[in-house]
Amino acid sequence: DAAIALFTADLRLSDNPVLRGAVRAGRRVVPLFVVDEGLAATGFAVPNRAAFLADCLADLDAGLRERGGRLVVRRGDVVEETCRVAAETGAGEVHLAGGVSGFALRREERLRAALEADGRGLRVHDAVITAVAPGAVLPAGRDHFAVFTPYFRRWSAEALRPVADAPRALRVPAAHSEPLPSAAALTGRPGTLSPALPEGGERAGRRRLDAWRRGGMAGYADRHDDLAGDATSRLSPYLHFGCLSPVELVTRARAGRGEGAEAFVRQLAWRDFHHQLLAARPDASWHDYRPRHDRWYEDAGELAAWRAGRTGYPVVDAAMRQLAHEGWMHNRARLLAAGFLAKTLYLDWRAGARHFLDLLVDGDVANNQLNWQWVAGTGSDTRPNRVLNPLTQARRYDPEGEYVRRWVPELRGVAGRAVHEPWRLPDRDRRGYPEPVVEPGDTAGRFRRGRGLV
Ligand code: FAD
Repeated sequence: DAAIALFTADLRLSDNPVLRGAVRAGRRVVPLFVVDEGLAATGFAVPNRAAFLADCLADLDAGLRERGGRLVVRRGDVVEETCRVAAETGAGEVHLAGGVSGFALRREERLRAALEADGRGLRVHDAVITAVAPGAVLPAGRDHFAVFTPYFRRWSAEALRPVADAPRALRVPAAHSEPLPSAAALTGRPGTLSPALPEGGERAGRRRLDAWRRGGMAGYADRHDDLAGDATSRLSPYLHFGCLSPVELVTRARAGRGEGAEAFVRQLAWRDFHHQLLAARPDASWHDYRPRHDRWYEDAGELAAWRAGRTGYPVVDAAMRQLAHEGWMHNRARLLAAGFLAKTLYLDWRAGARHFLDLLVDGDVANNQLNWQWVAGTGSDTRPNRVLNPLTQARRYDPEGEYVRRWVPELRGVAGRAVHEPWRLPDRDRRGYPEPVVEPGDTAGRFRRGRGLV
């Protein structure tokens, strides 16, 4: 009469079909989180995300305790530990959120086989991690959508399941638990922690969501690309770890109406779009979705300059320094920093994507890798040869140069938009800021000249 709710990327109590499913199926529920050594071995658990995850687990445990439960924490192989807890507590069923990455799919498969061998069942819940489950809408004769606009049309017409409240009270069987893990215990690798990370957890996510719905969302359609305005929701880490439910976000935004809400819902659909793409093509996490180039430029020094925010292109460097400091970057900044690596420097997108994954607190295989492929022109996009000119982008999205001055202290003394072209300034005004790594007039040159199309 017990069931396990195995938490993965759904670290919340509200609107969580996994937890509700377990509560409904069994009179007693074991809320379980396994610190998966298999995941640690992949190198994905970098310090920034580990810190956020530690907050999430502490917050989840606190919420469960308020309801008479607690989080059971184990460490080891996720499949073995889950089976062990099931045997110890007599749980007949395990409830799990359907995932999309190769890692999640393998975990699900192994778990099903191991549980069935023990005479137990696995229940996989859809529309937990995304608003619309991958594969729920399909184009005729294909297993996924490759183009966003037709996907969005179908996605928008899809009825969402009703939003459910958190369970009020829980009955939990006795089960051994390790102490809540610290950030250090969750990270499988060394690396620096960004000094200005957001606080993790459902409650912190909900505070941000409430502020967003009261303040930011209405102006989102007009202001989402304004780099200095910083007028996006910053909900991405909470979505990545499942502290907030995408079904709830879409439902509530639609109820609020208005241009801002519509534009916000469209971005949430982009998130689902990339998830359904990765679910159908798990290889696209590191392999070109559509191979278009047979070679990339190689230059370790340029890659290092890009990572360090020392390319000599202020808007690109501002973006990279924001990433290092906050573990987060504005979407427009991601687009132009990624475009600079893949199109201007013409370096392999995988090196850039790896660096983003090392630092982003919302670092996500589906969103990061497929956005990178979109920018690099190896993705499913219909305009793969688009090149974002960093100077044009800077003038358009940081017209006064405020974003650059915020993140590039060397150039703080330069007024207005002149800050975007430091190569025109006298040396003394540049204060050690580097020369541009490629000629300012030739930001698309390598990509156009060096393209070795497959
Ligand atoms: P908002 O503008 O408030 O948007 C709301 C939500 O919609 C976001 O939280 C996010 O969940 C979703 N969203 C918005 N834009 C996109 C998009 N283009 N693709 C998918 N989902 C989107 N997003 C991640 O969550 N993780 C990543 O690892 C990631 N890597 C990226 C790498 C590159 C090169 C690029 C160009 C984009 C990447 N994005 C990634 C998408 C996007 O930049 C971030 O989701 C967004 O900047 C997060 O800020 P926000 O929450 O304020 O977004």
